[in-house]
Amino acid sequence: MKSQQKFFHPHLRLLAMGIAGFLLAPHTFAAPVTNVAATNVAPTSDTLQTQTGVVRITPIFHATLQIEYMGKVIDADPVSGGSYTKKADLVLITHAHPDHFDKAAIQKVAGSFVHVVAPNSITSQLSQAIKSGSLCPLANGSILDFNTTGTNNKKLTIHIEAVPMYNLVRGPKPGQKFHPKGVGNGYILTLGGKRIYIAGDTEATPEMQHLKNIDIAFLPMNLPYTMTPQEAAKAARAFHPRIVYPYHYRYPFNKPNTNPQQFATALKGTGIQVRIRDWYPAAAVARATG
Ligand code: ZN
Ligand code: ZN
Repeated sequence: MKSQQKFFHPHLRLLAMGIAGFLLAPHTFAAPVTNVAATNVAPTSDTLQTQTGVVRITPIFHATLQIEYMGKVIDADPVSGGSYTKKADLVLITHAHPDHFDKAAIQKVAGSFVHVVAPNSITSQLSQAIKSGSLCPLANGSILDFNTTGTNNKKLTIHIEAVPMYNLVRGPKPGQKFHPKGVGNGYILTLGGKRIYIAGDTEATPEMQHLKNIDIAFLPMNLPYTMTPQEAAKAARAFHPRIVYPYHYRYPFNKPNTNPQQFATALKGTGIQVRIRDWYPAAAVARATG
């Protein structure tokens, strides 16, 4: 990224210090991984071998996914409709829209001590959601490293980079965007040398198109909020992830909004592996739509 700013700008630190009950950025995980409920059915996962261990990726629902690495559990944009079988050590929130930011879900998935990484725009809303843990505000272009201890007491670093996510042209009315620039974060996680990009709700921004060395990408597609499958495929051609998952393609949840197969067809012959997974299990859709 061009503009890397230091984690915890002094005024953000002061802001965060004013939130009672928060333990600030020890950057060391403390929560053991425990089961949420034995009756939950575990969704299907994929694995990725890294230099230091296996990364397990589990699509949960719509824009919600879980990543496991060396005994640590990372949830991106957890929502109450999702089915979770493990407690999170780290939670990433992209932005404030309700299909991404769900305080009850953060409480539900949080382990006994959870680190929550979120854009500055929503950190003030997180104070009640985190009962025991740390809040890590991260601006577009910022990076942070979580140094912790994983399976078999091995030291590991989870490197997190906040990537801008925003609309280029789409919005509710002229002069407004659904996702204005500078408000939400996509994230790149580096785990054992592999780079995983979670785009959030975005169009094909220049920042996305210039990404390098992405092993796995999650790209959204639905209108009017993000991209068409063709636009998302064009973006994927530009930064050429090794593997890409279309996600966030049905919203509202009770309508067949976008067909991810169109995205896969548009990437045929590029060498990019497209993984279409079940992001909308019936039980989760039912919970989300009431
Ligand atoms: Zn959104
Ligand atoms: Zn969304």
